[in-house]
Amino acid sequence: MNKGLEVARGKTKALFEKPGEPDVLVVQAFDNITAGDGARRNEIAGKGRVAAKTTARVFRLLNLCGLPTHYLSGGEDDDDNEMLVRRCNMIPLEVVVRGVAAGSLVRRKPGIATGSILVPRMVEIFIKDDANHDPLIEVDEIVHRGLASPQELGMMSEIARITFEILAHAWRRRETLLVDLKIEFGRLSGGEGRGNLVIADVIDNDSWRVWPQGREELMLDKQFYRNLETVTPADLAQVHENYETVAELVGTFPMLRPGMIAFVADGPQSVPLLDPVIREINVFGLQSLRRVVSTHLVPAYVLQAVQQLDATFARLVYVASGPQLAAMLAAATPTPVFDATEYDADELALVVAKTLALDDTVMYGRVLLVQANARAAVLGADAQLNAPGPQATIA
Ligand code: C5P
Repeated sequence: MNKGLEVARGKTKALFEKPGEPDVLVVQAFDNITAGDGARRNEIAGKGRVAAKTTARVFRLLNLCGLPTHYLSGGEDDDDNEMLVRRCNMIPLEVVVRGVAAGSLVRRKPGIATGSILVPRMVEIFIKDDANHDPLIEVDEIVHRGLASPQELGMMSEIARITFEILAHAWRRRETLLVDLKIEFGRLSGGEGRGNLVIADVIDNDSWRVWPQGREELMLDKQFYRNLETVTPADLAQVHENYETVAELVGTFPMLRPGMIAFVADGPQSVPLLDPVIREINVFGLQSLRRVVSTHLVPAYVLQAVQQLDATFARLVYVASGPQLAAMLAAATPTPVFDATEYDADELALVVAKTLALDDTVMYGRVLLVQANARAAVLGADAQLNAPGPQATIA
């Protein structure tokens, strides 16, 4: 890829300007692996390629879910270890989410055993400072030092938790436990949404702990390298193989599994009744189709339509326009059936999306995001209501 001036260089990557596009950078991953703040360093041929692939695939998944990231494109085999990202001003913090106790947490808190499930997830923030080994930092200290505002910290924590849940869901579907995860944030330095917070840097096999079958001894992530007493060529070959395995597994993360919502109206007069749900379903990017049947005029046709739809779509959900049709469909098919009259349109869209989210990480992420936005809207409205000034309308 055509690269301009180098703008930054880290232990495992460098960032370059993209000629003619001031708001875009090229990130190039190196074949390096380091541990102990750079005290241990090795080169593994091909590591940059798998790191770029892993990061690109993770970011593509997060983008598909609707999370804000700096990732634009690239990172696959024919991209020369390079990906394109939106230019950011980085916030010098590492946000760690933990679902299972391990690593520095159990060193700091000996009362917590390695492998303990952490509910709710724990969010810790470390300040980037290699000389002092990236120490833990309190929220008020971050605000005091002007590194981020309280609002930004709230958003970073929420986005980090959602990111963790999305990736934990993806890994769970591959019989693997996501133990913890580190992410970094930046503020977009130009273009649309300038100043907005986005997930930046990289998320690759150096950024998390992953334990296949929930067993620490089977770990596939960088901890294997950190734990080595001495580093032999055979060890490095094993590290490389683990990283390749992870990149392959992550390859299937950013895939929206095809699903179909069949909206079935009981008579032509019921068709408009389904319109509000169809609008809400679009929020999740779900595909839908519409059919008109009639339980009392053409009952055999209802069953014929169900058989036809069941045979056509592997991942299907029915939304019926009323209780009579819903009962008939429910008895006729093993596919989930919902009665539109039992829910508000937005509620029903969420229930349908959740049904398909069970085995679809993209849909799962979209559900998490819709729920987080709904919570934020309530808190925002409450804050607005009590804010001083002309908007406050307390009687
Ligand atoms: O070492 P610790 O337990 O605090 O690490 C928590 C998580 O953050 C781990 O998944 C680790 O891989 C990641 N991490 C990282 N970069 C660092 C420190 C930790 O990606 N500098």
